[in-house]
Amino acid sequence: MEQKSPFYSRPQSEGRIYFIETFGCQMNVRDSETAAGLLETLGFYRGTDKENADLILFNTCCVRDHAEKRVFGNIGALKELKDENPNLIIGVFGCMMQQQEVAEKLYKRFPFVDIVFGTNLLSRLPAFVESAESGSRTLAVDEQNIQIEDDLPSIRTGKINAFVNINYGCDNFCTYCIVPYVRGRERSREMAAIAEEAKTLVDEGYSEITLLGQNVNSYGKDLKDASFAKLLALISKVEGLERIRFMTSHPKDLTDEMIDAMASLSNVCHHVHLPMQSGSNEILKQMNRKYTRELYLKIVEKLHAAMPDVELTTDIIVGFPGETEEDFLQTLDLVERVGFASAFTFKYSPRKGTRAATMEEQVPDIVKRERLHRLNELQEQKSRENNEKYIGVTGIVHIEDCDTRHDPVCYGKFPNFKMVYFAGTPDLVGSYVPVQITNVRKNSLFGRIAETEETSI
Ligand code: SF4
Repeated sequence: MEQKSPFYSRPQSEGRIYFIETFGCQMNVRDSETAAGLLETLGFYRGTDKENADLILFNTCCVRDHAEKRVFGNIGALKELKDENPNLIIGVFGCMMQQQEVAEKLYKRFPFVDIVFGTNLLSRLPAFVESAESGSRTLAVDEQNIQIEDDLPSIRTGKINAFVNINYGCDNFCTYCIVPYVRGRERSREMAAIAEEAKTLVDEGYSEITLLGQNVNSYGKDLKDASFAKLLALISKVEGLERIRFMTSHPKDLTDEMIDAMASLSNVCHHVHLPMQSGSNEILKQMNRKYTRELYLKIVEKLHAAMPDVELTTDIIVGFPGETEEDFLQTLDLVERVGFASAFTFKYSPRKGTRAATMEEQVPDIVKRERLHRLNELQEQKSRENNEKYIGVTGIVHIEDCDTRHDPVCYGKFPNFKMVYFAGTPDLVGSYVPVQITNVRKNSLFGRIAETEETSI
């Protein structure tokens, strides 16, 4: 599998150029990296803008609010480019195109789009492109074909952190979520294949990886003698791997074994993205989340007991159908008790094809907006409080980048995911540097390079 450096950029005179626009989560980012790898096997090179591309690919997401409207708007805007350059190939894929009805609608509405295909058929991208080159259009959605293909080429885009898929799909069927319908049932990659990929990434220069899955905690349930804790133990032995991150964790599957693995393996980072969604047991039941607020709090307690420096981030939905003021107050109460470092907060919005979309008692938008506002105010206060505890703390930052527009400012994360900014130089990017925190803002920590390697987190 030939890999080019993530920093590789070709002079545009060398050949055909592709441009990929990605919507949605890290899983989609990883799929786009695979699409890039496949296109480069065809001789395409990565470009930086649509205007100069010979091939434009949109990787769509169906999870976010108004996703369909946005994607259709973006595709419509490409007509002008196609009129100027009839040889331009335009393709649309991703989980939104895994929905047959939406894929057909897009294919019909935009005759200038050459390729429309669902995520599950990503490995066939080279054949679709060849077909487009010979003048044929493709519409391909295959809901059955969901096997795992471990050996597809890919071009990583992360400078210091590489995404590694460990499982695909989801079996949880939360009532608001479309993912199980478009990404299929859970399938885990073999532990050995994941460890092999981690070794290859270290050889390519990465020392930090993020293990990806819709629910990493249930990794291995479809394999023999595998679990997420065992996977962490195996990967942690890869020489040269300094930091192992993962997301997303489902509270119902977060085991004591996994907490022990996190606490005892020195290169597993102490951060858990643990979607809470609601603090009301009644709403959690309606969401089919399969845990209670009491269980959620118990897990949080165990995580803190095992790792005093652990940071938790979360996702919260307000205004789920049937959510009363009392339910919402329970959410605020749980946010208050847990003290998340940060939270992605959303107003509930119905997704066609999900159970929640047909539930009665949809909450009026004005109420959702007002609740979201109150929730965000509380979370901002909690984030600020959380940040304040870092004043004077020294930790090791893995430097992601350096902004040189004014006085150079480097930034990167502590192991527990806290983002840190400090005065530094671009040659530090990729290295691990001790930084002592001197002041904080709502979302970030600011510090200076510490004179000592002694760290407190
Ligand atoms: S766990 Fe629930 S919210 Fe997450 S992907 Fe699966 S169904 Fe969707």
